[in-house]
Amino acid sequence: MRLAPALARLMLVATALACSPASRQAPATAPTPALGASYPTELRWVRTSAEYRALVLQTYRAAGSHLADASRGLPQGRWAVILDLDETMIDNSGYQKRIGAAHQRYSDSSWARWVVESTAPAMPGAVEFTRQVHALGGLVAIVTNHAESLCVVTRKHLVTVGIDADLVLCQPPGGNDKNPRFRQVQSGTAMTGVPPLQVVEWIGDNIQDFPTLTQGARNDPAVLAEFGIRYFVLPNPMYGSWEKNPDQ
Ligand SMILES: [Mg+2]
Repeated sequence: MRLAPALARLMLVATALACSPASRQAPATAPTPALGASYPTELRWVRTSAEYRALVLQTYRAAGSHLADASRGLPQGRWAVILDLDETMIDNSGYQKRIGAAHQRYSDSSWARWVVESTAPAMPGAVEFTRQVHALGGLVAIVTNHAESLCVVTRKHLVTVGIDADLVLCQPPGGNDKNPRFRQVQSGTAMTGVPPLQVVEWIGDNIQDFPTLTQGARNDPAVLAEFGIRYFVLPNPMYGSWEKNPDQ
């Protein structure tokens, strides 16, 4: 039915008034508050932003899209991907939030309690990526600096979040350098019954999750050229070896 022009104009004015900011009614309930401004910006970004989640998924998809080419021609069970654990496969931002709320800094004791609680979720894309590795005939090797004393609970936690790891190498006493453990995976000395493995990709959130790399990689174009090809890095603005870099 066609409205008379005068009536139609009246309805348009009424509609515009109803949608104007001044006419909006206050919501019946207050909106959900943002993660408190007292929390560090980087923690809020990790826990709330679409961009962080998109970046993590983007990284895992890129790593996954290179897998078939990287492993082509390699015998089943003779190659692997090495991944870091924290902020790579497991999201521990809840721990950062907890210590932030308590105005505490990281401590080995509060960290150990967090790990034992085993409530941290898998990172977006991590479970799917490990399935992709297995479907192509590769092994998933996790090299983490969780202490050896936490390794049993760490392995159980991985199972509960759906991460099927073939190797989990925790930190031996005094050995936070991951390079010896990378070499163990490659030489077949990481675990009885596991042969030498050709490592086709490394994934981590810290530059030291990649063989022999340090913060000096920032100024090394040859090393950085490996990223997106064999090395895939996830963002971690909350903590890392970068914290000790001198200001510029
Ligand atoms: Mg990490």
